[in-house]
Amino acid sequence: MNRASVTLADGRELIYFGESADKAAGHPDLRPLGRADPHSQVRYDPLLGEWVIIAGHRQDRTFLPAAEHCPLDPSQPGRLTEIPAPSYEVAVFENRFPSLVTGAGAAAPEAGAPEAGAPGAEVPGGDGLLATRPGNGRCEVICFSPDHAVSFADLTSGQAGTVLDAWTDRSAALAALPGVEQVFCFENRGPEIGATLSHPHGQIYAYPFVTPRTSRMLAMSSAYLLDTGRNLFDAVLFAERSDGSRIVVAGEHWTAFVPRAARWPYEVHIYPHRRVPDLPGLAGAERDEFCDVYLDLLRRFDRLFDTPAPYVSAWHQAPVRQGRREFALHLELFTIRRAAGKLKYLAGSESGMGAFTNDITPETAASVLREDAAPVLREEP
Ligand SMILES: [Zn+2]
Repeated sequence: MNRASVTLADGRELIYFGESADKAAGHPDLRPLGRADPHSQVRYDPLLGEWVIIAGHRQDRTFLPAAEHCPLDPSQPGRLTEIPAPSYEVAVFENRFPSLVTGAGAAAPEAGAPEAGAPGAEVPGGDGLLATRPGNGRCEVICFSPDHAVSFADLTSGQAGTVLDAWTDRSAALAALPGVEQVFCFENRGPEIGATLSHPHGQIYAYPFVTPRTSRMLAMSSAYLLDTGRNLFDAVLFAERSDGSRIVVAGEHWTAFVPRAARWPYEVHIYPHRRVPDLPGLAGAERDEFCDVYLDLLRRFDRLFDTPAPYVSAWHQAPVRQGRREFALHLELFTIRRAAGKLKYLAGSESGMGAFTNDITPETAASVLREDAAPVLREEP
């Protein structure tokens, strides 16, 4: 993996990945940029045993700028962006408007606050009910391509491999930062899903706590192990592969299926056949095949409707210190679009009670993704 790191004008780190990384790193950031002063804290919700990130400064962040002002394009004479190089393959940099921050920007802890990494179910007593901890962590932006007009689905397998290299590098590097408990690589695609920039990019969060969904998965897998002696993730993958009715793409090293209790209209979970805790655990052949399987799935999503599908793509990795022996790395991909021109909103039941209603049966969604949205084979002239 080829990488080269530079420091932006305001002190943030930027890392180039790919063959051209060293050359790109030769271009200094020429912007007269003042040091950003973000503040962040995490507050404990004692009723749910969950941490909430409070980051007031983010209200001022860049929101859907015109294409000619895109901050993720390579820099050109007269137009300096977040990326100083005139060309790059994949670039990762610290977000100027982060939800989580390192060092002084993170608020000081209050007396009685539980450890942010503590299991979510622990309710602190006394003053701990109003617990606040520093929002220690890091938020990075990952640019998938220098080309503003493409999306991840347009990348070649080789380009996707460079993105996977970058995700892997950042997962290991951020896990090593003090106080980081979990690293999350994700992409919000489309304005419908809340992406504030249209340039092909994703984000990487390093949290100072184990996230609610991961805590829940670990609790369920621990209970299952105690009951059956088996690993829950392995059992689910085995059950889906045996049943077969919800499988969308099956490779030698990966299987992509619609989960039996899918929450979203079109939702696919992608698991490697060999259980590993996180991205750095993947081996060469698994990495290569992932790129092809993932690109295939993204292209199927884009064939579902008359316009590109808005989606969330979420890498689930084991926390830094908890459950590493049992957690299984996997990716969850879903769209909030249920039909052309119709979005699935998180309304009363979902937002109020966390109880999802899905209007499309998972078996139908799998069949549509597998057959109707299959790659179109071009006939030889
Ligand atoms: Zn752009």
